[in-house]
Amino acid sequence: MTLERFKNGMGELYEPVPFSGCIVWIRGCSSWGYGDVNVGARRISAHRLSFEIANGPIPDGMCVLHRCDVPACINPRHLFLGTKGDNNRDATEKGRNKPPRGEICGAAKITRVEVLEIRRRYFSGDVLQRQLAAEYGICQQTVSDIVNHKKWAWLYGELKEARDHDGDESVSKGRYYE
Ligand SMILES: [Zn+2]
Repeated sequence: MTLERFKNGMGELYEPVPFSGCIVWIRGCSSWGYGDVNVGARRISAHRLSFEIANGPIPDGMCVLHRCDVPACINPRHLFLGTKGDNNRDATEKGRNKPPRGEICGAAKITRVEVLEIRRRYFSGDVLQRQLAAEYGICQQTVSDIVNHKKWAWLYGELKEARDHDGDESVSKGRYYE
């Protein structure tokens, strides 16, 4: 794709998550949850590209880390530079070097349709996370991860109406790099 298409990809390539301020890549992810894009002759992680657009080139050997701990997030305000050592430390502190929590919580039982259903029902506003947890037989942390796109971030649907709840105008208007 072209750089222009990436910059104007709100709603097509990435979407805002209500409340958290995250902008999550919705076009398929690696097993670590990062989105990869081909721009010109380069293949690059979506979050690294986003960082570059906002801040200029990434120095050699440096990693782009997430303050928000959402690997699919490309919001430049949630990204910062670190060394490989920082990256490993960060991943360990945040538990990303452990098996995904969903499996511990039994969320492997949850289907894609149910994930979308949980998000839709949660953002419709009339059901609590713990009610959903009880109903789907998963722990509340898993419900929280689902609605905050920490899990199944690549699985996207029906969130457009929730965009209006986000207080950050620049998000809803797609002016992310200006
Ligand atoms: Zn984020």
